[in-house]
Amino acid sequence: MNEKAEKLYSELINSKGLPSNEERRSVLNENMENLLSKDINCFSCTGLCCTFVSNSMQTDPIQTLELYTFLHKNKRWNEELISELKEVIRNNRLDYEIQTGLGSTFRRTYTCPFFNKGPKGCSIDPEWKPFGCLGFNARSPGASEGSDCTSDMNLLKKREDLYEAKEDISNSYLKELLGLDWDKLPMPVALLKLDEILKE
Ligand code: SF4
Ligand code: SF4
Repeated sequence: MNEKAEKLYSELINSKGLPSNEERRSVLNENMENLLSKDINCFSCTGLCCTFVSNSMQTDPIQTLELYTFLHKNKRWNEELISELKEVIRNNRLDYEIQTGLGSTFRRTYTCPFFNKGPKGCSIDPEWKPFGCLGFNARSPGASEGSDCTSDMNLLKKREDLYEAKEDISNSYLKELLGLDWDKLPMPVALLKLDEILKE
């Protein structure tokens, strides 16, 4: 457990009015359960969307703090994981931004360090996963390797409409308190930047 991270996260919930991790992901997780009940699942897939082929997931300060807290609670934040995160960053050049010329940056892809090859897939509990991960699903039974998979933008927007105002308050608070100069970063980069500040 990392007490600084725990305390900071409790402060967001108790003083800044941030709804819990479960609540803010509930519409996405209910949708996944609904898909499962219709036999729409990822069981026959290798998990392509979590690999360098198409994963470019980024997290904001709140989602990064949630993931960091989850990893500490589960005793998974250790030197081995830190080395793995550094390797993913180095191999995929995640710490170099490429400007697209349109005022935004090109998102590099990488194989997620929390992805287990095979049927186990993602090793992060659904209540703590990045929103974008929960919003990307198969659309029909038997879909595999991205054959009929998509980001449910309407559902992600619905979630955002419900919680954006409160998340903005907490993200701004974290940015100012911790001196963060970023709004979103690839997960491995965001986690290590947070660890530099919160490690005990
Ligand atoms: S969403 Fe699609 S690509 Fe991703 S694991 Fe499921 S079936 Fe595979
Ligand atoms: S957090 Fe899980 S679902 Fe998201 S990219 Fe990583 S392995 Fe895939």
